[in-house]
Amino acid sequence: MTSLLTVRNLSVYYGAKAQAAERVSFDVGTGSVVALLGANGAGKSSIMKAVAGLVPATGEITFDGEPVQSLPARQRVQAGIVYVPEGREIVGNLTVRENLVLGGYHVPGVARRARIDMVLDMFPEIANKADGPAWRLSGGEQQMLAIGRGLMAGPRLLLLDEPSLGLAPLLVHRVFERLATIRRETHLAIVLVEQNLRMTMRLCDEVHFLRSGRIVGWRRAQDLKGEAARQEAIDAYLGAT
Ligand code: ATP
Repeated sequence: MTSLLTVRNLSVYYGAKAQAAERVSFDVGTGSVVALLGANGAGKSSIMKAVAGLVPATGEITFDGEPVQSLPARQRVQAGIVYVPEGREIVGNLTVRENLVLGGYHVPGVARRARIDMVLDMFPEIANKADGPAWRLSGGEQQMLAIGRGLMAGPRLLLLDEPSLGLAPLLVHRVFERLATIRRETHLAIVLVEQNLRMTMRLCDEVHFLRSGRIVGWRRAQDLKGEAARQEAIDAYLGAT
Protein backbone atom coordinates (compact mmCIF):
# COMPACT_ATOMS: atom_id res chain seq x y z
CA MET A 1 0.00 0.00 0.00
CA THR A 2 1.39 3.41 -0.93
CA SER A 3 1.97 5.90 1.82
CA LEU A 4 -0.39 8.87 1.78
CA LEU A 5 0.95 10.53 4.91
CA THR A 6 4.51 10.25 6.16
CA VAL A 7 5.41 11.82 9.49
CA ARG A 8 9.08 11.90 10.48
CA ASN A 9 10.61 13.17 13.71
CA LEU A 10 7.64 15.36 14.50
CA SER A 11 8.07 17.36 17.70
CA VAL A 12 5.51 19.74 19.17
CA TYR A 13 6.40 22.34 21.79
CA TYR A 14 4.15 24.76 23.60
CA GLY A 15 6.64 27.44 24.64
CA ALA A 16 10.26 26.62 25.28
CA LYS A 17 9.77 23.92 27.90
CA ALA A 18 6.46 22.12 27.43
CA GLN A 19 7.04 19.34 24.93
CA ALA A 20 3.87 17.57 23.85
CA ALA A 21 5.36 15.28 21.19
CA GLU A 22 8.92 14.18 20.66
CA ARG A 23 10.36 12.83 17.41
CA VAL A 24 7.22 10.99 16.43
CA SER A 25 7.29 9.02 13.15
CA PHE A 26 4.53 7.06 11.48
CA ASP A 27 2.97 6.36 8.08
CA VAL A 28 -0.62 6.22 6.91
CA GLY A 29 -1.34 4.28 3.72
CA THR A 30 -3.97 5.35 1.20
CA GLY A 31 -7.35 4.25 2.54
CA SER A 32 -5.97 2.87 5.79
CA VAL A 33 -6.87 3.70 9.37
CA VAL A 34 -4.16 4.30 11.94
CA ALA A 35 -4.98 4.82 15.60
CA LEU A 36 -2.97 6.77 18.16
CA LEU A 37 -3.66 5.38 21.59
CA GLY A 38 -2.51 6.80 24.90
CA ALA A 39 -3.56 8.28 28.22
CA ASN A 40 -4.71 11.87 28.72
CA GLY A 41 -1.89 14.25 27.98
CA ALA A 42 0.16 11.69 26.00
CA GLY A 43 0.28 14.07 23.04
CA LYS A 44 -2.32 12.56 20.70
CA SER A 45 -4.21 15.77 19.93
CA SER A 46 -1.00 17.73 19.55
CA ILE A 47 0.26 15.32 16.89
CA MET A 48 -3.00 15.54 14.94
CA LYS A 49 -3.07 19.34 15.20
CA ALA A 50 0.54 19.49 14.02
CA VAL A 51 -0.31 17.36 10.97
CA ALA A 52 -3.23 19.72 10.26
CA GLY A 53 -0.98 22.76 10.66
CA LEU A 54 -2.84 24.09 13.69
CA VAL A 55 0.09 24.12 16.11
CA PRO A 56 3.77 24.83 15.41
CA ALA A 57 5.94 21.74 15.04
CA THR A 58 9.32 20.62 13.78
CA GLY A 59 10.02 17.59 11.61
CA GLU A 60 8.85 16.42 8.19
CA ILE A 61 5.28 15.85 7.08
CA THR A 62 4.76 14.52 3.57
CA PHE A 63 1.30 14.19 2.06
CA ASP A 64 0.85 12.40 -1.25
CA GLY A 65 4.56 12.78 -1.92
CA GLU A 66 4.69 16.53 -1.23
CA PRO A 67 6.18 18.19 1.84
CA VAL A 68 3.41 20.08 3.66
CA GLN A 69 5.04 21.08 6.94
CA SER A 70 5.47 24.68 5.84
CA LEU A 71 1.94 25.07 4.43
CA PRO A 72 -0.67 26.97 6.47
CA ALA A 73 -3.65 24.97 7.77
CA ARG A 74 -5.99 26.29 5.05
CA GLN A 75 -3.78 24.94 2.27
CA ARG A 76 -3.50 21.59 4.01
CA VAL A 77 -7.31 21.40 4.00
CA GLN A 78 -7.25 22.10 0.28
CA ALA A 79 -4.66 19.37 -0.17
CA GLY A 80 -7.06 16.96 1.56
CA ILE A 81 -6.00 16.94 5.23
CA VAL A 82 -8.98 17.63 7.48
CA TYR A 83 -9.03 17.72 11.29
CA VAL A 84 -12.22 16.97 13.23
CA PRO A 85 -11.64 18.38 16.72
CA GLU A 86 -12.36 16.73 20.02
CA GLY A 87 -15.31 18.45 21.68
CA ARG A 88 -16.89 18.90 18.26
CA GLU A 89 -16.89 22.71 18.05
CA ILE A 90 -20.01 23.00 15.97
CA VAL A 91 -21.75 26.39 15.74
CA GLY A 92 -24.88 26.01 17.84
CA ASN A 93 -26.74 29.05 16.53
CA LEU A 94 -26.40 28.00 12.90
CA THR A 95 -28.54 25.27 11.39
CA VAL A 96 -27.15 21.81 10.80
CA ARG A 97 -27.07 22.56 7.06
CA GLU A 98 -25.24 25.87 7.61
CA ASN A 99 -22.65 24.07 9.71
CA LEU A 100 -22.09 21.70 6.80
CA VAL A 101 -21.73 24.64 4.40
CA LEU A 102 -18.96 26.00 6.67
CA GLY A 103 -17.03 22.75 6.23
CA GLY A 104 -17.15 23.07 2.44
CA TYR A 105 -16.72 26.83 2.11
CA HIS A 106 -14.06 26.46 -0.58
CA VAL A 107 -16.08 23.91 -2.60
CA PRO A 108 -18.03 25.33 -5.60
CA GLY A 109 -21.83 25.57 -5.15
CA VAL A 110 -23.04 22.54 -7.12
CA ALA A 111 -20.43 20.19 -5.67
CA ARG A 112 -21.15 21.59 -2.22
CA ARG A 113 -24.86 20.80 -2.50
CA ALA A 114 -24.06 17.27 -3.67
CA ARG A 115 -21.77 16.80 -0.69
CA ILE A 116 -24.40 18.05 1.74
CA ASP A 117 -26.80 15.46 0.29
CA MET A 118 -24.13 12.77 0.62
CA VAL A 119 -23.48 13.65 4.28
CA LEU A 120 -27.20 13.80 5.14
CA ASP A 121 -27.64 10.43 3.42
CA MET A 122 -24.87 9.02 5.53
CA PHE A 123 -26.26 10.39 8.78
CA PRO A 124 -30.07 10.16 8.64
CA GLU A 125 -30.25 11.19 12.32
CA ILE A 126 -29.14 14.71 11.44
CA ALA A 127 -30.93 14.80 8.07
CA ASN A 128 -34.24 15.03 9.92
CA LYS A 129 -32.95 18.08 11.76
CA ALA A 130 -31.02 19.74 8.93
CA ASP A 131 -32.86 23.03 9.06
CA GLY A 132 -32.99 23.34 12.83
CA PRO A 133 -30.30 24.91 15.04
CA ALA A 134 -27.32 22.68 15.71
CA TRP A 135 -27.56 23.21 19.49
CA ARG A 136 -30.67 21.03 19.48
CA LEU A 137 -28.68 17.97 18.44
CA SER A 138 -27.79 15.30 20.98
CA GLY A 139 -24.11 14.61 21.73
CA GLY A 140 -23.97 11.73 19.26
CA GLU A 141 -25.70 13.76 16.56
CA GLN A 142 -23.25 16.62 17.15
CA GLN A 143 -20.41 14.17 16.63
CA MET A 144 -22.02 13.02 13.38
CA LEU A 145 -22.34 16.66 12.31
CA ALA A 146 -18.68 17.30 13.14
CA ILE A 147 -17.60 14.31 11.05
CA GLY A 148 -20.01 15.34 8.29
CA ARG A 149 -18.60 18.86 8.32
CA GLY A 150 -15.12 17.36 7.97
CA LEU A 151 -16.27 15.30 4.99
CA MET A 152 -17.61 18.44 3.30
CA ALA A 153 -14.06 19.52 2.49
CA GLY A 154 -13.55 16.35 0.44
CA PRO A 155 -10.67 14.99 2.54
CA ARG A 156 -8.34 12.20 1.58
CA LEU A 157 -7.13 12.06 5.17
CA LEU A 158 -9.43 12.63 8.13
CA LEU A 159 -7.81 13.35 11.50
CA LEU A 160 -10.43 12.31 14.04
CA ASP A 161 -9.91 13.43 17.61
CA GLU A 162 -11.74 11.17 20.10
CA PRO A 163 -15.02 10.69 18.26
CA SER A 164 -16.32 8.64 21.20
CA LEU A 165 -15.74 11.38 23.78
CA GLY A 166 -18.77 11.90 26.02
CA LEU A 167 -21.01 9.54 24.06
CA ALA A 168 -23.17 6.75 25.45
CA PRO A 169 -21.98 3.28 24.33
CA LEU A 170 -24.81 2.84 21.84
CA LEU A 171 -23.93 6.11 20.11
CA VAL A 172 -20.23 5.29 20.10
CA HIS A 173 -21.16 2.08 18.35
CA ARG A 174 -23.27 3.95 15.79
CA VAL A 175 -20.59 6.56 15.07
CA PHE A 176 -17.96 3.84 14.54
CA GLU A 177 -20.31 1.87 12.35
CA ARG A 178 -20.82 4.91 10.18
CA LEU A 179 -17.07 5.54 10.02
CA ALA A 180 -16.58 1.95 8.83
CA THR A 181 -19.10 2.59 6.04
CA ILE A 182 -17.42 5.86 5.05
CA ARG A 183 -14.11 4.08 4.96
CA ARG A 184 -15.46 1.25 2.82
CA GLU A 185 -17.24 3.55 0.38
CA THR A 186 -14.74 6.37 0.01
CA HIS A 187 -11.30 4.78 0.67
CA LEU A 188 -10.62 7.68 2.96
CA ALA A 189 -7.54 7.37 5.17
CA ILE A 190 -8.11 8.10 8.84
CA VAL A 191 -5.89 8.90 11.79
CA LEU A 192 -7.95 8.15 14.84
CA VAL A 193 -7.22 9.30 18.35
CA GLU A 194 -8.99 7.24 20.95
CA GLN A 195 -8.83 5.96 24.48
CA ASN A 196 -11.31 3.20 23.75
CA LEU A 197 -9.14 0.40 22.34
CA ARG A 198 -11.95 -2.05 21.77
CA MET A 199 -13.92 0.33 19.52
CA THR A 200 -10.74 1.45 17.83
CA MET A 201 -9.97 -2.14 16.86
CA ARG A 202 -13.15 -2.36 14.83
CA LEU A 203 -11.96 0.31 12.49
CA CYS A 204 -8.21 0.51 12.39
CA ASP A 205 -5.41 -1.40 10.67
CA GLU A 206 -2.63 -0.34 13.01
CA VAL A 207 -2.32 1.10 16.50
CA HIS A 208 0.54 3.28 17.69
CA PHE A 209 0.92 3.52 21.44
CA LEU A 210 1.91 6.89 22.85
CA ARG A 211 3.40 7.71 26.17
CA SER A 212 4.63 11.14 27.24
CA GLY A 213 4.84 12.42 23.69
CA ARG A 214 6.66 9.41 22.24
CA ILE A 215 5.54 6.42 20.24
CA VAL A 216 6.54 3.48 22.42
CA GLY A 217 5.25 0.68 20.21
CA TRP A 218 2.84 -0.37 17.51
CA ARG A 219 0.72 -3.37 16.62
CA ARG A 220 -1.33 -4.53 13.69
CA ALA A 221 -5.02 -4.58 14.51
CA GLN A 222 -5.23 -8.22 13.44
CA ASP A 223 -2.83 -9.10 16.26
CA LEU A 224 -5.07 -7.44 18.86
CA LYS A 225 -8.29 -9.31 18.21
CA GLY A 226 -8.89 -10.90 21.62
CA GLU A 227 -9.38 -9.09 24.93
CA ALA A 228 -6.24 -10.81 26.34
CA ALA A 229 -4.07 -9.61 23.45
CA ARG A 230 -5.39 -6.07 23.83
CA GLN A 231 -4.76 -6.05 27.56
CA GLU A 232 -1.27 -7.43 27.06
CA ALA A 233 -0.45 -4.62 24.60
CA ILE A 234 -1.87 -1.96 26.90
CA ASP A 235 0.11 -3.32 29.85
CA ALA A 236 3.28 -3.52 27.76
CA TYR A 237 3.10 -0.06 26.24
CA LEU A 238 0.93 2.11 28.43
CA GLY A 239 1.50 0.55 31.84
CA ALA A 240 -1.03 -1.44 33.83
CA THR A 241 -3.53 1.30 34.52
P1 ATP B 1 -6.16 14.29 25.86
O1 ATP B 1 -6.62 12.90 25.62
O2 ATP B 1 -6.31 14.69 27.30
O3 ATP B 1 -6.65 15.30 24.89
P2 ATP B 1 -3.68 14.11 24.41
O4 ATP B 1 -2.97 12.80 24.41
O5 ATP B 1 -4.44 14.47 23.21
O6 ATP B 1 -4.57 14.22 25.71
P3 ATP B 1 -2.42 16.66 24.18
O7 ATP B 1 -3.72 17.37 24.30
O8 ATP B 1 -1.74 16.63 22.88
O9 ATP B 1 -2.56 15.17 24.71
O10 ATP B 1 -1.44 17.26 25.27
C1 ATP B 1 -0.06 16.85 25.39
C2 ATP B 1 0.62 17.73 26.42
O11 ATP B 1 0.68 19.08 25.93
C3 ATP B 1 -0.08 17.81 27.75
O12 ATP B 1 0.90 17.86 28.74
C4 ATP B 1 -0.85 19.09 27.67
O13 ATP B 1 -1.03 19.63 28.96
C5 ATP B 1 0.05 19.97 26.83
N1 ATP B 1 -0.71 20.96 26.04
C6 ATP B 1 -1.70 20.69 25.16
N2 ATP B 1 -2.16 21.82 24.58
C7 ATP B 1 -1.44 22.84 25.12
C8 ATP B 1 -1.41 24.26 24.93
N3 ATP B 1 -2.23 24.85 24.06
N4 ATP B 1 -0.52 24.96 25.67
C9 ATP B 1 0.32 24.37 26.54
N5 ATP B 1 0.36 23.04 26.74
C10 ATP B 1 -0.49 22.27 26.06
